Amino acid sequence: AAQDAKAAAYKPAFTTDGERIEVVANIGRTDEAARAVEAGAEGVGLLRTEFLFLGREEAPTEDEQAAELTRMVEALNGLPLVVRTLDIGGDKDIPFLPMPPEDNPFLGLRGIRLALAKPELFRSQLRAIMRAATRAPEGAVKVMFPMIGTLEEFREAKAMLEEARAEIGAPRVEVGIMVEVPSAALMAPEFAREVDFFSIGTNDLTQYTLAIDRLHPTLTRKADGLHPSVLRLIRAVVDAAHPHGCWVGVCGNMAAERVAAPILIGLGVDELSVSPPAVAGLKAQIRGLSYGECRELAEAALACRTAADVRRLA
Ligand code: PEP
Ligand code: MG
Repeated sequence: AAQDAKAAAYKPAFTTDGERIEVVANIGRTDEAARAVEAGAEGVGLLRTEFLFLGREEAPTEDEQAAELTRMVEALNGLPLVVRTLDIGGDKDIPFLPMPPEDNPFLGLRGIRLALAKPELFRSQLRAIMRAATRAPEGAVKVMFPMIGTLEEFREAKAMLEEARAEIGAPRVEVGIMVEVPSAALMAPEFAREVDFFSIGTNDLTQYTLAIDRLHPTLTRKADGLHPSVLRLIRAVVDAAHPHGCWVGVCGNMAAERVAAPILIGLGVDELSVSPPAVAGLKAQIRGLSYGECRELAEAALACRTAADVRRLA
């Protein structure tokens, strides 16, 4: 039985009525790539690259970044690796990038805004990612940009990526955005014409939709990703993405929540990205779900008036 369980951990997860849901891992360190594979992840859905920059006195060199990324590519042995570019700012800052203090850092120079404001730093990361991509089977390395709020931000970031790709001579890579800002979800039909995929960061999307600081000492309990407002944004992204052939993932903590997974699946999400220890349990859960019932559950959740109503339903 233990061997059966182990074998099942490495197989893709289908619902009882045959819908495949991809289960991939969130990682934030080089050695976690191997752990994700051992845990049965079908790849990495979110590589948080901040670990290469945090707590350092100097920026990592392009060579160093390329070496770390290549190590992950090798550990994944052809499985997909979605590399999220630097998401600094907000609650995270780095010593070698002194930044003027901001009254509202979560509404300030964070994520892609900071990357675009520091083009040298961003360019070295993009070049490192492209170097790692040349070491992977074509298409295995994908790039996504954090905290995208407008098409201009995406276009500017993508143009810089294209430049790096041409310089390195890397193959074409899929380029996607994190959906963490309500404007990106609302403009998903326009984004869908220009991106290859969407990955929904429900931690930040919930924070910005409900206007509750995700680190707030007393309010975080109310920052519930199952609030119908957040679910409606997720549905809007799926509805916009699929007609254009874009896939949609969820990489926020919500993807690992037992009550949330059936709703996300029912909303039409194609991929769930969770921490490596959560992969096996999520696959097992999916194998017990009916896709048809998930769709009904999602419709009912979308019609709810409060997060508490959604939780009662689930
Ligand atoms: C998110 O915002 O949901 C997300 C996955 O990104 P992070 O938690 O790194 O901000
Ligand atoms: Mg985020």
